[in-house]
Amino acid sequence: MNHHKNPIQGDKAMDQPLNRRRALLTLGAAGAAGIALTPGIANAANKVKTTARIVIAGAGAAGLAAASRLSEALDGAKITLIDARKEHFYQPGFTLVGSGIKPAGYVVSTTAEYVPAGVELVQERVAEFDPEGKKVVTESGQAHAYDFLVVATGMKLEYGLIEGMEEDLIGKNGIGSIYHSPAKAEATWQAMSAFADKGGRGVFLRPGTEMKCAGAPLKYTFITDDYLSRRGQRSKAEVVYNSNNKALFSVPIVSEKVRMLFQERGIQVNYERVLKAIDPGKRIATFNTPAGTEEQGFDFIHVIPPMRAPEPIRNSPLPWQTGAWAAEGWLEVDKGTLRHVRYRNVFGVGDIAGVPKGKTAASVKWQVPVAVDHIVAEIAGKTSDALYTGYTSCPLITRLGRAMLVEFDYQNNLVPSFPGVIAPLEELWISWVMKTMALKPTYISMLRGRA
Ligand SMILES: Cc1cc2nc3c(=O)[nH]c(=O)nc-3n(C[C@H](O)[C@H](O)[C@H](O)COP(=O)(O)OP(=O)(O)OC[C@H]3O[C@@H](n4cnc5c(N)ncnc54)[C@H](O)[C@@H]3O)c2cc1C
Repeated sequence: MNHHKNPIQGDKAMDQPLNRRRALLTLGAAGAAGIALTPGIANAANKVKTTARIVIAGAGAAGLAAASRLSEALDGAKITLIDARKEHFYQPGFTLVGSGIKPAGYVVSTTAEYVPAGVELVQERVAEFDPEGKKVVTESGQAHAYDFLVVATGMKLEYGLIEGMEEDLIGKNGIGSIYHSPAKAEATWQAMSAFADKGGRGVFLRPGTEMKCAGAPLKYTFITDDYLSRRGQRSKAEVVYNSNNKALFSVPIVSEKVRMLFQERGIQVNYERVLKAIDPGKRIATFNTPAGTEEQGFDFIHVIPPMRAPEPIRNSPLPWQTGAWAAEGWLEVDKGTLRHVRYRNVFGVGDIAGVPKGKTAASVKWQVPVAVDHIVAEIAGKTSDALYTGYTSCPLITRLGRAMLVEFDYQNNLVPSFPGVIAPLEELWISWVMKTMALKPTYISMLRGRA
């Protein structure tokens, strides 16, 4: 059976009058989860003249956006972007690939196409961060001295910290993981689709560490549940969601809404379960619980691994030294300015930043202009009052053709971009359109420093 045809074809949602859909799409393209446009970038005449050396470690969402904005704002700066990865992955699309809605190619492009003119791309990994010596050293031993450092390395997925789990298992033995890569997201779709064809026990979870896009584990549970229903197998299936702590989401009102939706759909919830080990042959997952370990058999499991800072960061003086984020190695930055607390010429943006919210591309969109503003102001001999408020956004798919556009800040306030138009906790078709169609163009604009 070809499950790659659009799964929401024939959905009532698609029968909306065309004009209304066009209007909504225009709105979506301007603002998909991320969202309203940020202040414009300096035109040529306003550029700040400088010979400052700026190194950006990591050329993913945050590193590319920072390079674009810095090169637009500065005239004469030596900007060096360092990343070994030649491919660029549009990670918010991994969920769609893992759900059979988009092919793997939808999320793959190249890093080089987003590197602005005048910015040097060094295709290597940073092996050593030396904030005392104001330099980074790449794996080939080349040192890059800087006046300002922007750390944008993202995070590392640690599948190896789950006993018995290996990346090669994704797509086999009923094991899925949309997080790893486009190819593995597609393999996950095949495994999930096979499960949706016959039912059985589906096990879902989130890791005990900080993670990127904390909505993704929930989305994938909802989507699998929906496929089971659409294929007439829901009554032959058990769907179990394991939360690592006592909530389903960090924002209480969203957590409660998800709890209610899970209850309505017969999705069982376990709290305080962290995946410890997996036996692919026997199809048994072992979880740590406050009362010891617990085994859960599965026909399909969606594994999301522990996440932490990449090793060169963890081995450097840059992470938090104490507190909740020290062990995982997140950068010790001020949560409002993204400036390093101990090394004033270092900034951390994107997933690597040790701040209470974030770890989404939508937060990158709001963090990068703030960090760049502080760097440019300092170069110009001024001060900036730009602040990141913790804005994070999550288009939480609740079934094919419907999503809730959840946006919030450090205080757990819901901060809807379109108040009165898009209700944050309602399952809407427009929010689904944003996730599936409008978010990618907005994301690409962000890489180019324009959104
Ligand atoms: C399944 C999934 C679903 C998601 N859904 C959403 C969503 O719906 N909405 C949303 O807003 N966000 C979503 N996200 C999150 C979003 O993709 C990330 O938050 C965002 O990509 C973070 O950007 P970043 O630049 O910090 O990290 P990345 O984009 O991951 O880039 C990090 C870069 O640093 C490089 N790097 C690592 N170590 C080094 C080193 N030592 N030296 C040099 N370079 C290095 C890497 O090669 C990589 O290119 C999702 C993510 C996943 C995985």
